[in-house]
Amino acid sequence: MFKKVLIANRGEIALRVQRACKELGIATVAVHSTADTDAMHVRLADESVCIGPPAAAASYLNIPSIVAACEITGADAVHPGYGFLSENARFAEILEAHGITFIGPTAEQIRIMGDKIEAKRTAKALGLPVVPGSDGAVRTAEEVMTEADRIGYPVLIKASAGGGGRGMVIARSREEAVSAARRARAEAKAAFGNDEVYLERFLGAPRHIEIQIMGDGRGKAIVLGERDCSLQRRHQKVWEEARSPALNEEQRRSIYATCAEAMQKLAYRGAGTIEFLYEDGEFYFIEMNTRLQVEHPVTEMITGIDLVHAQIRVASGRPIGLAQDDIRFSGHAIECRLNAEHPRTFVPSPGTITHYHPPGGLGVRVDSAVYQGYRIPPHYDSLIGKLIVHGNTRVECLMRLRRALDEFVVDGIHSTLPLFRELIHHPDIANGAYDIHWLEAFLARGKV
Ligand code: ADP
Repeated sequence: MFKKVLIANRGEIALRVQRACKELGIATVAVHSTADTDAMHVRLADESVCIGPPAAAASYLNIPSIVAACEITGADAVHPGYGFLSENARFAEILEAHGITFIGPTAEQIRIMGDKIEAKRTAKALGLPVVPGSDGAVRTAEEVMTEADRIGYPVLIKASAGGGGRGMVIARSREEAVSAARRARAEAKAAFGNDEVYLERFLGAPRHIEIQIMGDGRGKAIVLGERDCSLQRRHQKVWEEARSPALNEEQRRSIYATCAEAMQKLAYRGAGTIEFLYEDGEFYFIEMNTRLQVEHPVTEMITGIDLVHAQIRVASGRPIGLAQDDIRFSGHAIECRLNAEHPRTFVPSPGTITHYHPPGGLGVRVDSAVYQGYRIPPHYDSLIGKLIVHGNTRVECLMRLRRALDEFVVDGIHSTLPLFRELIHHPDIANGAYDIHWLEAFLARGKV
């Protein structure tokens, strides 16, 4: 087992990983920018190293600084959390070359899944159902029109290097397709330095359902159930639940088996999420994330399995320690992403938290790294915490969530709490009757 793990991240996820390390008796090293000197992940770590100025490119994404921090502290493994360097194959390779374990999949697996065109091709070869679309990248205007005509409208133009919902443009007709492709290309070039795009059929009313898997890197892989992340704004998840209100046991059994088999063939190592759109009883693969997800706690709440413990165990060369038949699902869990943003305009709201009181009680979990008096720096993602609630049934979970949201106090900044307090009263939410477009339509109606 590792002696010391460096956590190459900040905020709630850095703290989340630290908790797992401490429970396993592993020493922790925090890294931080000069803007995060007062951060909780720094205060609670066994050791900390300042790795650069506030801009993420100069600190949390600065590979030489992070490798130097490992050398200085003698860390024998790195947990990347999510975002930042978590899906950077080069980072994984550099660490391995320095004799430091990257807690995640192999560099090769990250590389395959990091390129969406390659990922779709691989998924298809592994037997996963994919969204109908172009066979690889589309380059010329003629190619865009021919492929779009073949796929049918509306068509979605997506960046091969895409992430965070960026580089995605809808075209509703042949006339729109060429200019939409140009726009997607420009957006992708600016955001990812890669302007390769491909086409996909735009699904009208799907749900986003993703499967959590864990592999040992030697051909064993298990499925830890699904999460429904259909409540989204600008293709970004806002509320996630497990299990999905839309699936029955037969559908679950079938997609779990398909995913487990695919990951066994790939000899996948560590935690991963296979993302699908689900419409009219059919699953369509969209991408795979080769890391821990923001929404992993809902899976932990219904399985009782600590996913970070499992990641660390597998990375250290041990078996997963669980068989598929050991996985038992109990009750229902919902996560609300608390962002430091205005609940109507979604404009980021950095600043000082003047009052902070997280909710508690049975079945309530708050994963956050903020505290009263904490100043949220303006340099990073606006996620400041996650409220995760468990209940024996979905109804109990919703009632508990409503109570927990009422109890939550975050003053001094704008947060998305009022949005969730509004959502929890909506009959469509109570009935689980929503698709990936529902939240945008709700917001457009001017509620909250
Ligand atoms: P990213 O990596 O940027 O998150 P994804 O491919 O995972 O991009 O897609 C993010 C979200 O965009 C999905 O959850 C879904 O809401 C929407 N989306 C992606 N592909 C399609 C599609 N073919 N049709 C309709 N919506 C889509």
